[in-house]
Amino acid sequence: MATPPEHKTLQLSEAKLGLVSVSAPITGRVVSNDSCLKGKSASFVKHTTIDVSGTALEGNCLVGQAFGVLAPGLNEKGKPHKVRLYSLSCSSDGEDGSGKVISTTTKREITEEQSSQKDNDDSNDHRLFLGVCSNYLCDLKPGDEVKLSGPNGKRFLLPLAPKNHDYLFVATGTGIAPFRGMAIELLEKVGTTGQIHLLMGAPYQTDLIYDDLFRRLEKKYKNFHYHTAISRENQPDGTQGQYVHQYIEKKLDIFKPLLNNPRTLLYICGLAGMQSGLFKVMAEQEISGGYFSIREKLESINPTDWELSQIRRGVKITDRCMVEVY
Ligand SMILES: Cc1cc2nc3c(=O)[nH]c(=O)nc-3n(C[C@H](O)[C@H](O)[C@H](O)COP(=O)(O)OP(=O)(O)OC[C@H]3O[C@@H](n4cnc5c(N)ncnc54)[C@H](O)[C@@H]3O)c2cc1C
Repeated sequence: MATPPEHKTLQLSEAKLGLVSVSAPITGRVVSNDSCLKGKSASFVKHTTIDVSGTALEGNCLVGQAFGVLAPGLNEKGKPHKVRLYSLSCSSDGEDGSGKVISTTTKREITEEQSSQKDNDDSNDHRLFLGVCSNYLCDLKPGDEVKLSGPNGKRFLLPLAPKNHDYLFVATGTGIAPFRGMAIELLEKVGTTGQIHLLMGAPYQTDLIYDDLFRRLEKKYKNFHYHTAISRENQPDGTQGQYVHQYIEKKLDIFKPLLNNPRTLLYICGLAGMQSGLFKVMAEQEISGGYFSIREKLESINPTDWELSQIRRGVKITDRCMVEVY
């Protein structure tokens, strides 16, 4: 399971970091803030575009990076709210083609107080807790000001020579944000002819984010392939719903040759832990070589029996594999 030599020196686009600090944020202005889900969904996700012209963020954010948002107000300790990060969902030249307007994909975080998490929790307390920053962002209207910092992140980036690669992008939830930007960048700006497979996992069809855009891109570019794995609905053939790793396992005829191709780079973004199922399937199918190495202790265990905690400790990704989970 050694790393193929061609990936040992993979060079990523050079990112600028921390041009705007949290203590001296810039002021952006919201341009638009519209739902990017289709039809009625139990979740609320917005495509939020923000004008950063004239600030240090203008033209300095790369696709794959994130920026910080500072919600106004104080937390329960009377201190300003901590910065929250949001992935860029536009290509590196922004929504406007000149890096003046950046965007992200914001999901409202809404949690019901679960009973008895701690000893003194009231099991009859069923209040809703609204995430501070995601709801602040989703409530913003065109013209509103918003304090931003960043850019953040130097690892979840496209390679310096994007045309030399094929890609497998795997997303769950708002993990789709960077892949919207990367798909636009690779197909419409770089004009790559390499293969791009995007696999989006969602609980229900109605939770698919930017679904119309990806279907449009798939029609337009024959090298772009859009896959969806729906976990809580039966498949059209009546079989049970599936998670992204189960989808890959079922379609090995597509994904095994893609992942075994030395050109391919793997990007995973979304819910924390989603990488575990993928790594397990890849190890079972002996396609882990080059994307991750397995530490000694795990090597003696059959991948079918790998547990989440063992994967967390025992799998080390290489520079051919980019993971951003939160
Ligand atoms: C690199 C990176 C990129 C990211 N990109 C994106 C992105 O593109 N889009 C996106 O939407 N998010 C993204 N995130 C996540 C984002 O940074 C925030 O963590 C997320 O929006 C939640 O922040 P919040 O302020 O709304 O929630 P918080 O206020 O931080 O609360 C967190 C959660 O706890 C719940 N909660 C709060 N208090 C209680 C309580 N007492 N009892 C029970 N539950 C409670 C809230 O409802 C919420 O679900 C990214 C994170 C990282 C690290």
